[in-house]
Order: sequence, then C-alpha cells, then structure tokens
Amino acid sequence: MTTTVLKFGGTSVATPEVLERLARIVAGVKGDRVVVVSATAGTTNALIGAARAAAAGDVTGAEATMARLETAHEELLRKAAGAQTDDVSATLRDLAQRTTALLRSVALLRECSARSQDAIASFGEMASSHLVAAALRSRGIDARPVSATGIVVTDDAFGNAAPAFEETYARANEVLVPMLRAGGVPIVTGFIGATGEGVTTTLGRGASDYTAAILAAALRADACLIYTDVSGVMSADPRIVPSAKPLPQLSYAEAAELSYFGAKVLHPRAVLPAIELGIPVRILNTFAADDPGTTIVSEAVADGSVVKATTSLGGLGLLTVQGAGMSGIPGFAAKVFDTTAAEGVSVLMISQASSENSICIVVPAETVDRLKGALERMLAKELAHHDVERVAVERPIAVVAAVGDGMRGTPGVAARVFGALGRLGVNVVAIAQGSSELNISFCVAEADQAKAVRAVHDEFHSSRATQPSASGTLAP
Ligand code: ADP
Ligand code: ASP
Ligand code: MG
Repeated sequence: MTTTVLKFGGTSVATPEVLERLARIVAGVKGDRVVVVSATAGTTNALIGAARAAAAGDVTGAEATMARLETAHEELLRKAAGAQTDDVSATLRDLAQRTTALLRSVALLRECSARSQDAIASFGEMASSHLVAAALRSRGIDARPVSATGIVVTDDAFGNAAPAFEETYARANEVLVPMLRAGGVPIVTGFIGATGEGVTTTLGRGASDYTAAILAAALRADACLIYTDVSGVMSADPRIVPSAKPLPQLSYAEAAELSYFGAKVLHPRAVLPAIELGIPVRILNTFAADDPGTTIVSEAVADGSVVKATTSLGGLGLLTVQGAGMSGIPGFAAKVFDTTAAEGVSVLMISQASSENSICIVVPAETVDRLKGALERMLAKELAHHDVERVAVERPIAVVAAVGDGMRGTPGVAARVFGALGRLGVNVVAIAQGSSELNISFCVAEADQAKAVRAVHDEFHSSRATQPSASGTLAP
C-alpha cells in the first residue's frame, strides 16, 4: 500500500469550486492519503491584523475581523458541504468564540506576545481542517480533521518554532496510522504545532509546506504533493514575469536557494525532511491538476540551463559600515556580527569589499534603525577616531537572486547578469555570491526590484537570449 501526503495551500481551499477540485484530486489518489491544509487565503493575514488591532486597543476592529472570518467560513461550509453540517458549524463557532476571547484579552492588556499571536493565528488552519473534512465527507470520503497540536512537537520559539523530529515522528505514527488503517483520510492542520506542554505554536509564515514534508518523512510516505495555485516552481514569480515557465525539475539545493530568496511557492525548510529520506516532493496546481508541475530531486540533473530561476525579496535594508581604518582592526567583522546576533536580527546577505574598507549587511527593513544604533554604540571608539567613517543606511532595498546548478563552472554568468542590468539602467547596490556557486545575488533599490528580475530572467530565458549576443546587447 502506498502512502501519499497531499498539501493544499490557501487558495486551494478558499472557494466551493476549488474544494470540488480538491476532492477530485484526493479521490483520485490510490492507497493511504494524508491531507495537510493551510488556512483559507487571506485568513492568516487577517488574524495577525486583528491581533495587532487588539494590541493597539481597537477591540471593535478585532471583533469585526473575527465576525467576518466566521461568516465567511460558515458560508463556505454551507456551499461546499451542503446539509448535515450542524456539528461542524458549531465547531467553527466555538473556534471563533475562543479566538475572539483571546483578542479581547490582548486588547485589555494592550500587548500581543508571540505566544498569544500563535494561538490567534491557529484559528485559520483549525477552521479550514474542519471545513475541508466536511467538504470531503459530503462527497463520500471518510475525512477526519486532525489538529497538528497533537502531532508536531516544537520548541517554544513562538512564531517560528522548530519541531522536535523524533517525538513528532512518533506521534504522527501514533495518531495517523490507526486512522489510515481504518480507511480514514486525516485532514491535518498545516503551520501549527505545540510545545511539550501543549501550548500552541506556529512554524513560520508559509510553513504548511513544512508540515507536509514532516508528516511525509514521519510516515515514510511514497510521495509528498504540494498543491498550490501555479503549475510548479517557475523561472520567476509569475506576478513579476508573466512569461515565466514552470521548471520540470529542481534539485533540493536549488529549491532551497530559491525559497530563501523569496520564491514564496515553497517554504525554505519544507523539503528537507522528505528529501533526506528520498521521498519525492512535487509542486502541483490544484487549478490545473494534469499539469506536470515541478519535481524536487536530491541531486541536480544537468539540463543545459545556466540560470534556472530568478527570484527576489523586498522589504529589506542595507547597512554599510565604512572606513579606511577598518582593515587594521582584527576581528572587525566578528564584532559586527556579534552585534547583529545580540540584537536578534537575522542577516540575509553579507558582502565585504576586498579592500576591507566596508562591510555590507542586508537585514529586514524594520530592524535597520535599531541595528544602526547598536552598531554605532559598539563602534563608538572607532567612529571617534575615524577608523570607521560611518554606518550608512539604504532602504527600502530588495535582494535579487539568479539560481541554477548550471552556473557552477560556467564562465561569464555574472557578466551576463550585470550586463543585462546595466543595459536597463538598474543600479546594483551590493553583490554577493553564495559559496555554493548556485546563485548570484545582489541588492537593488526596491523600486527597481521588478525591473531587475525581468532583466535577469530575459537574459537567460527569452528565446532570443539563450546565448549571449556577440554585441553584448539584446536583439531588438
Ligand atoms: P499556497 O497558499 O498554495 O502555499 P503561496 O501563495 O504560498 O501558495 O505560493 C504560491 C505563489 O508563489 C504563487 O501564486 C506565486 O505568485 C508565488 N511565487 C513566487 N515566486 C514563484 C516562483 N518562482 N514560481 C512559482 N510561484 C512563485
Ligand atoms: N496559513 C499560514 C500562512 O499564511 C501557513 C501557510 O499558508 O502555509 O503563513
Ligand atoms: Mg505557501
């Protein structure tokens, strides 16, 4: 008997029509099936918005959001599952009431901890697991909602919790295998887990993919199918480059680089647990289920391509520590990174000029001011002596990354990337190349983000640009 884990993202559970598609996909898979669901599209954002509103004292706004979410889920339940759903309706109401109560206490305290926010955000996946299970039951599938709080055991890093794999794998088998033996289809909440003490956590934004891979690994599944609203990982975000094409195959390393640098289609940590066990991960389209999608494989397969995909991440800031006297100070870079670590800021990209006269770090835009202050305090002496001239800030900026295993050992890739940018007049603020040689990443002003992605994508993907043109310019 084969076991398949199927994960459906937010847009794949958000309308009666798409739930019909979901049901057909699940019904079409032979053997044991475990379904992982996200919150319906927009729900997690709305819940986080409500939590922030409550923390700011706007209890009416937060309550209104919950009322809207409850009505929307009720309506979807009625349309997608029809009659005989009174008990599910009651469950949804109960979940909404509990979440509203949490929001009220946040409003009273005027403070929303990451722990409270996780409890509030969990409404989305909890509600959708009941909803999807009801929709499937109304079509004759023995679907049963399962909360991942009883399966995925995590640490207490609320908002971005890390699973304890051994315990999680054991619990997944305890909870899911009996259901599968009885012919049931568990509909498990993505995104959420719980600490050893049972306090609800979340695994980070977009982490339902991760939940799917974790369960696939736990059950030694034969496949992990990630259903979304595009036909696989594409050569660029289709919202930025409408002509982007789905990639039939991607190595694990390529997929990881792409998602790290903003390809939202897959969560950065998602595939590792499955790939480690050799379980194939496929990205498929709920709205075009016959499309071949993308298969993530453990090793890259040479297909003649150089840059497979171009991706980008906005909302960032660049801090540059500059000064002619820096080169003489031992351990200078370490001091800078100790400061970022002490401030709890995650660094997305680093580059150091070979002259050692500057270090650039890319961090989330909202952390820039705090980090600048901390660096200036740490470097007070060097600034006073002019060994360090200044800590300069640029924002908002975006990181753009060109990713592909074929770049390894192919000369002239960087020249083509920067040539293409230059021809379109995109100013590059900083450059870094991953040591893996799997990507070239660089910073541009956020206003140039889309233009830069298109320039690089066209250089490597437009039919007339598969080879660099002799003149160095694109044919008209
Ligand atoms: P889901 O809710 O199904 O997890 P997401 O919104 O998280 O869906 O991810 C799918 C979206 O990722 C697509 O609709 C697309 O806009 C975006 N995306 C960004 N980069 C890429 C890419 N390189 N290939 C495919 N989709 C991408
Ligand atoms: N609902 C969660 C989010 O929006 C998890 C997911 O969709 O994967 O981040
Ligand atoms: Mg997603």
